[in-house]
Amino acid sequence: MSRNDQLFERASRTIPGGVNSPVRAFRSVGGTPRFIQRAHGPYVWDADDTRYIDYVGSWGPAILGHAHPEIVRVVQEAAVHGLSFGAPTEGEIEIAEVIAARLPSIEKVRLVSSGTEATMSAIRLARGHTGRNKIIKFEGCYHGHADSLLVKAGSGMLTFGNPTSSGVPEEFIRHTLVLNYNDLASVEAAFATHGDDIACIIVEPIAGNMNLVKPAAGFLEGLRTLCTRHGALLIFDEVMTGFRVGPQGVQGLTGITPDLTTLAKVIGGGMPVGAFGGRADIMDNVAPLGGVYQAGTLSGNPVAVAAGLATLELLAKPGFYEFLSRQSATLANGLTERARAAGVSFCADHVGGMFGLYFRDAVPTTLDEAADSDIETFKRFFHAMLDKGVYLAPSAFEAGFVSAAHDDAVIQETLDA
Ligand code: PLP
Repeated sequence: MSRNDQLFERASRTIPGGVNSPVRAFRSVGGTPRFIQRAHGPYVWDADDTRYIDYVGSWGPAILGHAHPEIVRVVQEAAVHGLSFGAPTEGEIEIAEVIAARLPSIEKVRLVSSGTEATMSAIRLARGHTGRNKIIKFEGCYHGHADSLLVKAGSGMLTFGNPTSSGVPEEFIRHTLVLNYNDLASVEAAFATHGDDIACIIVEPIAGNMNLVKPAAGFLEGLRTLCTRHGALLIFDEVMTGFRVGPQGVQGLTGITPDLTTLAKVIGGGMPVGAFGGRADIMDNVAPLGGVYQAGTLSGNPVAVAAGLATLELLAKPGFYEFLSRQSATLANGLTERARAAGVSFCADHVGGMFGLYFRDAVPTTLDEAADSDIETFKRFFHAMLDKGVYLAPSAFEAGFVSAAHDDAVIQETLDA
């Protein structure tokens, strides 16, 4: 029995659902999850010491590649001075300043420890600021386990909450309107019916949790216009896209200004840092200035913040995002060429350091189209690549990630696999 198999068996004895479920458990592709024991640059090694070229990137954070020497250095240096103080630090101010300086939509920012906390906090803040209850979210957009509060039972394949068993009060669930991504007409209709009670729209401005679905022309602009017209807040959940698709996330690519932005993943460089920020008049509703309570034992943790700050500094190097875009384009185009030559219905899309692979002829623009990608072929492709030493996201509905460590030789090795 391989060590991976042994660990899988052991995990199911004490961890409900096996290992950190649902996404990491290989549920959707089948087979034994790879337990990773070490990682360096673009590579990860599993418990049987098999090496893989990694395109999961720790589900997004590893934008510099694994174990980047500068991040290791600052983490060690910070740890020597104490792991956690439960008191304010200068690092917390510095990272808030860097985020606010880089993203023009953000005047003030609060640190938390994950993307979920960031989205939960932004939604609570939007409700507190507007005094309204209802939330618009889009099916297939994932906002962490905040989703268990947001989705309706039976609302689709990415349903994380079930009101009959999740402990979420019906009352709360009724406050969420789950609409279709890229369907502006349904948003207009929702405002026509519930306009006075809609606190916010929360959206992944490029949806990386439906594989990779980009906003249709006019969709984000339309959301901005409707929110402004009806006094609701527009929340861009840039937990995945922030500092990943470009230096200013999707808001930088599109020029559309959200009222609030949520961040995590890249801003922690692999350590737990999340953040939510936006206009000062909204952010000032956070306690103790306002009534929206926000606190966390490890928020602004000095070791995590040190990793985040060092990462953000390295991302500011000229040409960084051009490099990422080039590598993800070469990968996406190379895979498409090879798949089509083999007669497979396949296409790929990319933006900055993110890419999506689809077993269908055209890049999807809706959740239904994304779901129409041939899942069985994806599973076979995933396992074939794994056997050849390439570790793709074990889900047909997750974007893949390239890092600064994915140089030309690594991309070529992938294409040759
Ligand atoms: N929002 C988006 C867009 C995400 O992709 C994720 C995680 O994948 C989250 C929120 C939740 O972040 P976390 O897993 O850090 O709680």
